[in-house]
Amino acid sequence: MKNLFNIEQSRSFISNFPKHPEDLALRVYTSRLLGSNSNLVLHGGGNTSVKINMPDITGESKNVIFVKGSGADLKFVDPEGFTGLDLEPLRKLRVIEKLTEEEMDNQLRIHRIWADSPDPSVETVVHAFLPHKYIDHTHADAILILTNRVNGDAIVEEALGKNVVVIPYIMSGFPLAKSILNAYEKNPDIEAVVVMNHGIFTFSDDAEISYRKMIDFVTRAEAFIMEKVGDKPVMSFSTNQVTNQAKNSGTTLARLVQAIRGACAYGNDRAGKQRFYVEIRNNSQMVGASASKEAEFLCRTGVLTPDHVIRTKNRMLYIDSIPEKDDDLKNYIDNLIASYKKAYHKYFITQSKAKGVERKEMDPLPRIVLVSGFGLVALGYTKTDAVIAADIGEQTIKAKLYGNAFGDYLPISDSHIFDMEYWPLQLKKLKKSLPSLLEGQVAMITGAGGAIGFGIAKRLLKAGAAVVLSDINEQRLCKVRSILSEEFNSNRIAIQVFDVTDYDSAKNALVKIALKFGGIDILVPNAGIACVATIEDLNPDKFDQVIDVNLKGTFNVIKAAVPVFKRQNTGGNIVVISSKNVFDPGAAFGAYSASKAGAHQISKIAAMELASIGVKVNMINPDAVFGDDSVSSQLWDLIGPDRMKSRGLDADGLKEYYRNRNLLKESVTAEHVGNAVLFFASDQTPTTGASLPVDGGIVAAFPR
Ligand code: ZN
Repeated sequence: MKNLFNIEQSRSFISNFPKHPEDLALRVYTSRLLGSNSNLVLHGGGNTSVKINMPDITGESKNVIFVKGSGADLKFVDPEGFTGLDLEPLRKLRVIEKLTEEEMDNQLRIHRIWADSPDPSVETVVHAFLPHKYIDHTHADAILILTNRVNGDAIVEEALGKNVVVIPYIMSGFPLAKSILNAYEKNPDIEAVVVMNHGIFTFSDDAEISYRKMIDFVTRAEAFIMEKVGDKPVMSFSTNQVTNQAKNSGTTLARLVQAIRGACAYGNDRAGKQRFYVEIRNNSQMVGASASKEAEFLCRTGVLTPDHVIRTKNRMLYIDSIPEKDDDLKNYIDNLIASYKKAYHKYFITQSKAKGVERKEMDPLPRIVLVSGFGLVALGYTKTDAVIAADIGEQTIKAKLYGNAFGDYLPISDSHIFDMEYWPLQLKKLKKSLPSLLEGQVAMITGAGGAIGFGIAKRLLKAGAAVVLSDINEQRLCKVRSILSEEFNSNRIAIQVFDVTDYDSAKNALVKIALKFGGIDILVPNAGIACVATIEDLNPDKFDQVIDVNLKGTFNVIKAAVPVFKRQNTGGNIVVISSKNVFDPGAAFGAYSASKAGAHQISKIAAMELASIGVKVNMINPDAVFGDDSVSSQLWDLIGPDRMKSRGLDADGLKEYYRNRNLLKESVTAEHVGNAVLFFASDQTPTTGASLPVDGGIVAAFPR
């Protein structure tokens, strides 16, 4: 493991944060160095601190400890990510034998120097009790490989030498702090403390030295493991498993994740089910691990450190084959999920009874699935949660393969896992506001390179959905994506270029979407083109083109989505962007009006056919939506000039003309259409087969 400390860089941190004490700037620097190494810490794991003597508001000097905020990521932490606390009152807690969780939480609140700073790390008291200026703490993989085995304590001593104290696993927070303080007081010359099944603490009065010790000890652990494992391969394969690998295909994996996502969705309130997003890792290492003889060991033996349990659950689910028929697949996955849930429930009941505590059982669903020959599939309530689970899952698999090759791997006990999984202070890391209306759902919008598609995407993103922008025009899609990424987390936005007129490409797009997010819940067929010509002048090829995009395109995407909806078995919404012209056609606009009427009719048929699987199909009939300066309407770009010419108007005059022709004298915007899509997509009413005009009121276009 490389020591990345660079004196020039460390100085630049001091000059970059001039408003903060130099020692804190250095703390930020070495914390980021730790955070940049995924073998040391991942996503909010690990924590660091610095003790600084500084004047308070009255000018009186005071000892302040700055500890990393709970859940903050060391990789990106800045001075504001550290919480300053009055050190002396925290140190006084040493004399207390036991502290309730509520009281510890209270202590960590009342001694902050800034009331608004984030909750400090759950391990704050450990940092406060040790006297050193700088303390570095990680859950380094190599350390955990050494501790998680038979006679792990002796092995750690052998690997790291006499200056390291090993203490048995003990609950984080106050008990751990007391235990580490005790170990330190018995031997004040120690350079590091290793906590079994948990991680390592290093310390010094110098930022660079504390960091260097971390790197040195972890490097020693790595070298020790490599020496013991030697040339032994960490994975082994049977012929059968290798064959499985050869059959790896995107379509099969897409079917599987759709089924898994469906089987894991739960609840049924007004806003529908709680659904998961998926993150797939199928690099050669994960595919190899999933197909290896070690795969079952990896799933059975749980997390590397209890800290990971809130992100990944303890055990991974193993899937050894993917049945070819959808019905068989569904039964197979349903059974596997059911037994996973049963085992989780049993663990929860057994542990809460044994400990005599009352806790609310969390969802009993897996977060990591290892699929033989295909790699790792992670699940999360948000896409970010799924990515975090996948990162931790990948890292855990790599480390445990070495732990297994080393020999005598010893999983962490359910009792320790439960203490951490249901520890109120740890759960705070996951605390968040109520889920937004469409959280967990995936929407695909065709024709998303234009104004209406953009307006719909914006509205659905605001409501919490992940959105796939589709269009045949990649350049326009990229533009829309970049505008939306300024406002929304880009991991909820994807683009998928495809041609709606081609059924196979629609089918393929849904495979890609499954591999990206896990499936689809909201489909918005919106792609449309038009041409202005009387029947006499309308070129038959042009007519075909319009029919292909507007009618066949709608049919193709609905048809391609049906098997996906069936595999998920969680219902869904199709919201078709129809047109005012369906009810009120215009002369010299035959191709558009006829194709839209056809699409409207096929959507009604879909409503009839898909009701039995809980999929609702509704139509929105807008009139004259012009884009704005950021995203124009592709349709109006095409027909606007003709329309202006025939009416003798300029661009603004044309907009005025359409505004004045409706009852409410309103300009219809893409946002209005987006609101209407959201209404249907969020299951507010039991409605299917309906048409909702968004046109300011046009009597001739009243649905009938
Ligand atoms: Zn820790």
